[in-house]
Amino acid sequence: MFRLIVVVLFTISFNLAHAQELYTPRDVKKAYEKGTRSRDGMPGSNYWQNRAHYNISLSVAPPNRTIQGSETITYFNNSPDTLSFLAFKLIVNIHKPGAPRTGGANEKYLTQGVHIDSFSVNGKAQAWNNQPYYYTTVPVKLNQPLNAKDSVQLFIKWHYDVSLQSGREGMIDSTSYFLAYSYPRVAVYDDYQGWDFTNFNDALEFYNDFNSYSVQVQVPENYVVWGTGTLLNPSEVLQPGIAKKFSNSLTSDEVVHVATQQELLQKQVTRQNGMNTWKFSAHNVPDVAFGISDHFVWDASSVVVDGKTGRRASAQAAYNDTAADFHHVVHFAKEALAWLSNNWPGIPYPYEKTTVFQGYAGMEYPMMANDETYDDTSFSRFVAMHEIAHTYMPFYMGINETRYGFMDEGWATTFECLFNRDMMGTEKADSMFKLFRVVDWNNDPSQSQDLPIITPGPNLSGGGLGINEYGKPALGYLAIKDMLGDQLFKKCLHEYMSQWNGKHPLPWDFFYSFNRTSGQNLDWFWNNWFFSHNYIDLSIKNISKTKTGSFVAIENVGGMAAPFDLLIHYKDGTSETIHQSAAVWKNNQHKSLIKITSKKEPVSVRIDGGLFMDADKSNNSWPRDKSIVNR
Ligand SMILES: [Zn+2]
Repeated sequence: MFRLIVVVLFTISFNLAHAQELYTPRDVKKAYEKGTRSRDGMPGSNYWQNRAHYNISLSVAPPNRTIQGSETITYFNNSPDTLSFLAFKLIVNIHKPGAPRTGGANEKYLTQGVHIDSFSVNGKAQAWNNQPYYYTTVPVKLNQPLNAKDSVQLFIKWHYDVSLQSGREGMIDSTSYFLAYSYPRVAVYDDYQGWDFTNFNDALEFYNDFNSYSVQVQVPENYVVWGTGTLLNPSEVLQPGIAKKFSNSLTSDEVVHVATQQELLQKQVTRQNGMNTWKFSAHNVPDVAFGISDHFVWDASSVVVDGKTGRRASAQAAYNDTAADFHHVVHFAKEALAWLSNNWPGIPYPYEKTTVFQGYAGMEYPMMANDETYDDTSFSRFVAMHEIAHTYMPFYMGINETRYGFMDEGWATTFECLFNRDMMGTEKADSMFKLFRVVDWNNDPSQSQDLPIITPGPNLSGGGLGINEYGKPALGYLAIKDMLGDQLFKKCLHEYMSQWNGKHPLPWDFFYSFNRTSGQNLDWFWNNWFFSHNYIDLSIKNISKTKTGSFVAIENVGGMAAPFDLLIHYKDGTSETIHQSAAVWKNNQHKSLIKITSKKEPVSVRIDGGLFMDADKSNNSWPRDKSIVNR
């Protein structure tokens, strides 16, 4: 008897303690031990990260598909470790036959990948084996190890062909290319996993250090180059009238047609020098990307993104004149820049510009997006906004999207939802969310969508990846916003962003930062939403009447701490809606008894989760509505 009691007590206390702690991978635990991260969600006193300066030259002459490149990289090893090798990212190797990918590849997608023509370290030539690598991460042993707190200078010459069928990059048409991942980049070496060996498989996107870039893109005359960073020499590459229009656009509220179809046809846009070298520079950015074309028209305008200083950001679009929706894209981009700066996250857009280039990807890069054209212009607005929203996560925040994509896609999806609500009203915005960010719990035969959001990206695929990186975390962020209220939620978000921008936050840094700033231990919520196999299914068990009022008993069948509305119809014909935030599940995540304070007699109640879609709608009303049949 005594023994039994002891066991029971032990079990209870163990479960309580266990419920409070978030699962932490062993490599992340080591980061806490080393003091590079801190359990209050702030960077640790020993936090470090590596960086580099890239001086890149790219040479392109369509219709020749070969890109010739050379670069000098100065790589700074701020880590306490001696590096015997460097890992390079050659993302374009995704096009090699035999490269592991999440999907199949069309013949036109395949190329021979990146070929390194020469490589030297601190001025001394070193061999580079081009043969065995079908992978996008290539480790290269250094003849002399790179010491802690030391730097190394690398020189690389390479070439690759842009693919006929573009994915996130490649040939858009015979004389328009989108050049992304176009240079060998040193992979991230960080405090918790060392070298990032995550292979790019066409699904797992960014994890980059914050670097500075000087880039020269050499193209034939009549080609315009759009790209990340400040265009340093507009008057060297543009004819005077065009350069003037471009310069005016940087302070104009109106849309300026910097280069029109007519001007392009009459070769009035660029300097007629045979070849032109377009020079760009960018500091403290995780990547650069470029679009080139000899026939894309160019629109530009600008908008104030920082009300305090009056700082403006430029919004530009480069597109085929026949793409009707793209004639509105600069307007959409300005709208997104202003909204993101002033509403959510409510931090002034951190770059000087954004350019939306017409391609096929719906893909973000720092200051650049490669977006498709759509017949439905409202969808073009939706995509433009989403890609520009990525400026904050993953770029401004240095997210390891390859391992924890929910830390960036989830936020872009959240911002997109809130933006759409402001622009088109909650009803239309929410129906778009349900359509495109579907969290349809009944549409996944393998139940991979039930995997915890914290599951590392390389272990997710298909529906499991989409739901766990976009829709599900977005709902989690919206649920915590609803629970904390907008003011406290924004305070937490801003504190997290101010502590970690320009760094590499992990999910635990985010969770603990919110705990500290809110003054609440939200681990029960993080555990429930981000570390559990929960899904949304609430069920009304009954309505009971007592002397003090009526009670609605709700069972949380799926386990997710989802907020919901309770719609109550009274006997006198009136009705009422009671909102319950996720806090209703704080103390008991299985059952909840909701008191109806009204003295009126309820005749029926119904749960409406709104965006928080319920897997089994047949148990959402009392009395049961027999007309509701689940698929
Ligand atoms: Zn996205």
